[in-house]
Amino acid sequence: MTERTTPVIQITGPQARAALRQVTQDRGGCIRPVQLRRINLDTGEVTQILIPCRATLESACPACAKRAQSLRAEQCRDGWHLEDEPHTASSSPDDEQEFWLGLRAHAQVQRDQAANESQDTAELDQLIAEVDDELARTGIRGSLTRNAGSDGNGTPQSTARRSRSTRRRQDTPKLPRRPVTGRTTGKVYSAPDGSRYRPSMFLTLTCDSYGKVRDDGTPADPASYDYQRAARDAIHFAALFDRLIQNLRRYLGYDVQYFAAIEPQRRLAPHAHVAFRGAISRADPRQVIAATYHQVWWPSTEVVRYDGNQLPVWDEASARYVNPQTGELLPTWEQALDNIAQRDQPLHVARYGAKFDAQGVLAGTRDAKRCIQYLTKYLTEQIGRCHRAETDAQADHIARLLDALRYEPCSPTCANWLRHGVTPKNARPGLVPGLCKGKAHRAEHLGYAGRRVLVSRKWSGKTVADHRADRKAWLTAMLDLPATDPAHYRWERVTPADPDAMSPTRRLLHVLADRTRWRNALAEARRRAENSGDLSAMEEAA
Ligand SMILES: [Zn+2]
Ligand SMILES: [Zn+2]
Repeated sequence: MTERTTPVIQITGPQARAALRQVTQDRGGCIRPVQLRRINLDTGEVTQILIPCRATLESACPACAKRAQSLRAEQCRDGWHLEDEPHTASSSPDDEQEFWLGLRAHAQVQRDQAANESQDTAELDQLIAEVDDELARTGIRGSLTRNAGSDGNGTPQSTARRSRSTRRRQDTPKLPRRPVTGRTTGKVYSAPDGSRYRPSMFLTLTCDSYGKVRDDGTPADPASYDYQRAARDAIHFAALFDRLIQNLRRYLGYDVQYFAAIEPQRRLAPHAHVAFRGAISRADPRQVIAATYHQVWWPSTEVVRYDGNQLPVWDEASARYVNPQTGELLPTWEQALDNIAQRDQPLHVARYGAKFDAQGVLAGTRDAKRCIQYLTKYLTEQIGRCHRAETDAQADHIARLLDALRYEPCSPTCANWLRHGVTPKNARPGLVPGLCKGKAHRAEHLGYAGRRVLVSRKWSGKTVADHRADRKAWLTAMLDLPATDPAHYRWERVTPADPDAMSPTRRLLHVLADRTRWRNALAEARRRAENSGDLSAMEEAA
């Protein structure tokens, strides 16, 4: 955090600004700092504070992305070989979480008012989704978006309450089930020499094959490559992962914990690298993967009923879409689900491919370190930027996948349902098939709109925010910085229109001054801690 101490310097011209950005970034400073107004509730004193943007993507802010990546690595390492059950009592929200929650509540009220007055809520929904992302970034668990009346970016849900979804597929092997105990730690083994060890697992899960691919990830025969199935598997990848975890827990009989990173393979299908706590035999994942599937009970998309200029139109009176010619109401989402007959097939059955990779890993070994690096390697890049097209064949492959994703319904609220004569869930005016704003359709996401890191609740007993707070507390103690008591302050976000708003250049100057001070203080602390302190922890924290 920065206090306003730097004198104002006049910096003009693109070169000076670019240089300032570069130097700030090189010194590990955030290049998109957020300005907050901190009001001391006892004295009324107002202080301007710049906080890091906390971007996780390198393209947005290299310094913040690098820190986020190293926090994830720390979180992964902390939970992987845990020997005692973690404490999971959820802590009360910190001042930053409180700030974003306040903003989120305000946006929800505005959104609901707009919806009541039948106004377009698209922008407010976008804002809500962005604030939810910020909340997630602060390490808060769960999402407020689901069932909050906004389409946000919730993951697609199957209709579990409808009886058909519980019928087990006959084409899938049955999995032995054991009662699941509350234990989350793995078994301890003893070596003949009496030493004890507790191995854990590193597992890589891949999607099924959609057709033969070459080494560069492109299909050997693009015409027969199943892009539709590739698109659907990517869209439902997170739901399938949930199923796998449920099955694994039932099969192994304990509350298996995981830290998973989702990234694309070269053929652009998502795959998951998963650190599991506890050791399992190679046969275990094989059996669980073979028995795991996720059925998507959504309306059929076989027939395109509306296309081109003949699209359903919004009817203000009924708050529904109607047939443009006859004025007939399109079925609601719920009605369309009820119309799925017992004999119908699910729209899609997602499964993992038979290929997987599993290896046991011991705590503190070079292997463990390598796996954690591997797990967090791509987290600073968006899915669509992990493998950039270098050849025409690769560019064509991306284009064909995006084509398939364009009209594929991404969720119950997707505008694409209008093509098939169904009113999307939480419908609003202005929906156009092919132009759904859902993340899954975008080139950056390639169908997978979920979180890049999936961590189970009892992994380390700590959120990323807890890890960040640990580092901060450690540094505060190390550098003799004054700790602030959050109870005595109110925080407000400064908007560009506010009279006390700092220009981007001024913000950067403050961050740079702060980083420089910080570096000097760290160098001093390092000298003091030469032999006693944990230098590597200090390096990471800086
Ligand atoms: Zn930043
Ligand atoms: Zn969509």
